[in-house]
Amino acid sequence: MNIPGSGGMFFHQVSAILELQKIFSVNEDTDLSASEYFVVCLYRVLLRDFNDIPDTGEAEWIRFGFCYCTTRSQRELLAHHYIQLASHASLNQIAEAWKSDELLELMATKDIDTSSLLSHGIYPRRPSPETIGIYRLMSEVTHILNGCAICPCNSFSCQFHSKEEPSLCLESEIDYGFHETNTWERWQLLNFYSSLFKNPKFHPRELQKARRDPDTKVFEAYIESLVPGFRRALINEHLTDAMFPKFARMEFKGEHPFCNCAIHSMVVSEGTNLGPIGYFRQMRDERNREQT
Ligand SMILES: [Zn+2]
Ligand SMILES: [Zn+2]
Ligand SMILES: [Zn+2]
Repeated sequence: MNIPGSGGMFFHQVSAILELQKIFSVNEDTDLSASEYFVVCLYRVLLRDFNDIPDTGEAEWIRFGFCYCTTRSQRELLAHHYIQLASHASLNQIAEAWKSDELLELMATKDIDTSSLLSHGIYPRRPSPETIGIYRLMSEVTHILNGCAICPCNSFSCQFHSKEEPSLCLESEIDYGFHETNTWERWQLLNFYSSLFKNPKFHPRELQKARRDPDTKVFEAYIESLVPGFRRALINEHLTDAMFPKFARMEFKGEHPFCNCAIHSMVVSEGTNLGPIGYFRQMRDERNREQT
């Protein structure tokens, strides 16, 4: 069996898989390459009758550029481009173009107009290691707060995680104030970011730009502009250190890490669709493919 999640039990999932088999002429015995597998995962979501747009915390959100979208209608626009592409290109063509970061070019050769995507800063691709940081943090926060204790983002073996903070990439830990926090502070920060990311005025790229500004006050000023008085809301005189939150006191240095730990589907994202055994099998499958 090679089509991911083909053991799904809900009608909208099963019908999406049937549709997928028809569009790409694949079946359960088709041997998929790693990138074909990821593309199939994408269309397995897009072809559903509802719940058909990848969301923060789902692997496709980062892998296929939905993280660049700041509104629901932008995500729908990107999804529409992928759906259009599927009727003009084969699974292998899409997979190869995705792998080599050439989906925009492929769309152009198939006469699909991408100007509306570009004008919104949306790219059908996975962000580069230099720009992925903020999207990775958004994904990590979603995963941690969803409490998926059994999922692979709690990775003690990843070289880009510290021993103190196995659920966050070191870049997130240091750049966004998690380093050397106590348990209560960490929990405060996670919830704070989670609500910040839902703020209608929040823009990932602006936050990241503010974070990387040499003037360390810019970062806090950006947050303050979205959540006036945020420091007072975060602090608790009994539970937090006097210096908390230590935003912008440290900066991640060195090459941007290639950490994929939070880029995978969550066990809770579809309720009980796979069951633990199916879920573990899919996770193991995804991990093996990430490494190829
Ligand atoms: Zn998780
Ligand atoms: Zn996870
Ligand atoms: Zn990692």
